Amino acid sequence: MQKIIILILLTFLITTNVISQDSNYVNHDKVCFIDGNNINLTLRQINASVLVDNNSSIGKSILNIKKILRFPDNPCDVRILSNGNTAYACFDGVNDENPRPTIFLDKNYYQSMFYNIEDKNIAIAWILAHEFAHHLLFHTFKEKSDNIFEHYKQEMMADKLSGKALANLYPNKSFNDIENIIRSIITNNSHSKTHPSKEYRVLSVKAGFLNAILETVPDNVKEIQRNSSVFKLYSDSEGKRVICENGKFIFKTQNDGNSPYFECGYTNQTQPSSLPKLEGWGIEYSISERGISSIFFGGFKEGLRSGENCYKLWSDSSSYQGRYSEGYINGEGKSIPNWSKKDYYIGNHNSGALEGYGSFYYSNGEIYKGWWKQNKKHGKGILYKENQILLNGCWKEDVFQNNGECSD
Ligand SMILES: [Zn+2]
Repeated sequence: MQKIIILILLTFLITTNVISQDSNYVNHDKVCFIDGNNINLTLRQINASVLVDNNSSIGKSILNIKKILRFPDNPCDVRILSNGNTAYACFDGVNDENPRPTIFLDKNYYQSMFYNIEDKNIAIAWILAHEFAHHLLFHTFKEKSDNIFEHYKQEMMADKLSGKALANLYPNKSFNDIENIIRSIITNNSHSKTHPSKEYRVLSVKAGFLNAILETVPDNVKEIQRNSSVFKLYSDSEGKRVICENGKFIFKTQNDGNSPYFECGYTNQTQPSSLPKLEGWGIEYSISERGISSIFFGGFKEGLRSGENCYKLWSDSSSYQGRYSEGYINGEGKSIPNWSKKDYYIGNHNSGALEGYGSFYYSNGEIYKGWWKQNKKHGKGILYKENQILLNGCWKEDVFQNNGECSD
């Protein structure tokens, strides 16, 4: 097994330059920055980093996390940066002969945010758990991608796994007790190219925390208490399990607990007599036979996707930002059919399809403004490029009608 790991590590180093040779800055392609902000670090800073001792508090913390996540022998090291102002997961660039999975951490930066020792320890534990999760989930092995879905999926899975670690590290605490610590560390308030916004990342950590409780509680237990929170547990007819914290927050997953399917978010059903539903905002994570198929961030009404400013990403790199109602894309929004092509549509939608009036901006510079039906140009419209009209008239199922007649 060790030989295989070494072989993988060597292949990784040879095929991908972890450290850029001709620049003073570290190549960031393989790393995650904990707070969602990319920071340039110099080779000098990396070379000056210090390996943590297993007997130090940070050394003990990472050993605990490895044990809790059931990889006690994982070779991942932690190195302390000075003036790094961040934390991230990467392969060790200090010694090219023997690269090791590593977490680089500027502990002073994070410790300065918190006054008491317990909060500092929880903060460090969360950061270590998140970065270790990136290594465990093989994110640090992957090729660089500018597919936003891949980045978001990785961050949410690392956040979820970090929540599982916290639930087990602090068995007497509820998520309420530690939520503010995580909030102080994540700084990006809106979605970035690599990380979902702070609120959704906090939800992902919370999802992992509640999932860890669900995993350890037998099916017949209906209520448990952890410090400031009461958790009620439900099962639904589709074989899904739901855990509700203080009647305000719910997490729903499939019975096996390990499946990446989940929904989590808020509810206003404070005293649910039956199965509580999402009511407010949250995340919905779906899977198909081929793995994770989509992630939804946004509002819910009676458990269905609903509201303005929702955001959905699909694994084929398409996305939608805009309005949902009764579970479907309905109304004004922006659709990006393919992230890499840079084509996009802004306009009306009906049950997920481009329908009504809308503008399509093609990557070749052409713009169509007009009417749509079932994702096809249909009705009156104008196609132009660089202010020159190419076609002006009527379309029928995407085909321009030379006689210019609009049938409907
Ligand atoms: Zn990350």
